[in-house]
Amino acid sequence: MGLWFDYMENYNYENLVMCQDKSAGLKAVIAIHDTTLGPASGGCRMWPYRTESEAIEDALRLARGMTYKHAAAGVNLGGGKAVIIGDPKRDKSEALFRTLGRFIHRLGGLYLTGEDVGTTLEDMAYIRMETPYVDTLPKSWGGAGPIAPATALGVLNGMQAALKEALGTDSLQGRKVAVQGIGAVGFEIVKLLCDRGADVLVGDIDPEKVRLAQNHLPVRVVPDAAAMYELDVDVFCPCALGGILNDATVPKLRCKVVAGSANNQLKEDKHGLLLHERGILYAPDYIINAGGAIYDYDRSLPGGMNPDRAIENVKRIRKTTEQIIEIAKRESIPTYLAADRFAERRIASIAKVRALRVSRNGDSEAGP
Ligand code: NAD
Repeated sequence: MGLWFDYMENYNYENLVMCQDKSAGLKAVIAIHDTTLGPASGGCRMWPYRTESEAIEDALRLARGMTYKHAAAGVNLGGGKAVIIGDPKRDKSEALFRTLGRFIHRLGGLYLTGEDVGTTLEDMAYIRMETPYVDTLPKSWGGAGPIAPATALGVLNGMQAALKEALGTDSLQGRKVAVQGIGAVGFEIVKLLCDRGADVLVGDIDPEKVRLAQNHLPVRVVPDAAAMYELDVDVFCPCALGGILNDATVPKLRCKVVAGSANNQLKEDKHGLLLHERGILYAPDYIINAGGAIYDYDRSLPGGMNPDRAIENVKRIRKTTEQIIEIAKRESIPTYLAADRFAERRIASIAKVRALRVSRNGDSEAGP
């Protein structure tokens, strides 16, 4: 008793919702962190968590990351996340996702979902049958289509800002980059890196993904997943799961920059400090992996989806990363902390804007 409320209080969470339905085989958690900037938005992950606590913690941590991601990216959405406990290769069904859709609908628009690790746009279409509160959908369903390429483009821009700072040049020609996880985003990043002449090493626990990369791209494969951390490379690019920068791995790293798409790469904040002390430049995850969110959010801007505008906004991740590095230098703090301060300042300033009354009936909500 007290464990989750204490955790929620420490990090200012709003809601934690548990959803279960035996006939559909659904056990899911929806975490809502902060809705100052707008409804909580964040993808739906499906993963065979070993314990309920693991799933709840993941949902909470990922939801908080979404608050910061949206805030730093200038997106007017809050932070939320759903996780389904289950094996995406074995346990998916139409009923499972539609049942989750019913639960999301009950929240009345407080939480907007989307694809994430273990789920696809097709799964989102099932959720959409039960609720309009779905952000990422196939184009045929009125969505922006796959967002992984935009996420990858943002990561590339963030990586180049970090390289410029760490090595004095943003050129990727001949740079050694180790990509951990070559799923939806990792594969797209590898493509962009190869196009720019980088020397790319890849690793994935799924042999199918490795085969796909080997068959289509000029990459070298690192067969031993643990060896990934020890490679003598310019950039370590984590594109699998979170928590991979921890007590065991950070001391092994021999890269100059860490820049990847995975959410919550730091197991704990102290690992961001450890990277800083080791002289490894960490491009904060939620700053550089915001491309998909920025791209998808374009549908809500005046005039509706405009791919050119969306891509321009994604490329701004480079500028944002430069700003974060600048704050870190000016305030003599690690980059992860600089990113948190940058995001928190935007939330605080927009909260003030939203406190201004805009209508006579006392409704203080923002307008369009
Ligand atoms: P994905 O499921 O398509 O790919 C993840 C890949 O990582 C899989 O191929 C999996 O086999 C591999 N993997 C898992 N554990 C591994 C390990 N220990 N070592 C090596 N490989 C491992 O997911 P994705 O959509 O590509 O997302 C990747 C990461 O980026 C996630 O952390 C996700 O939250 C984050 N992210 C994704 C997006 C997006 O647009 N999809 C946006 C922002 C952040």
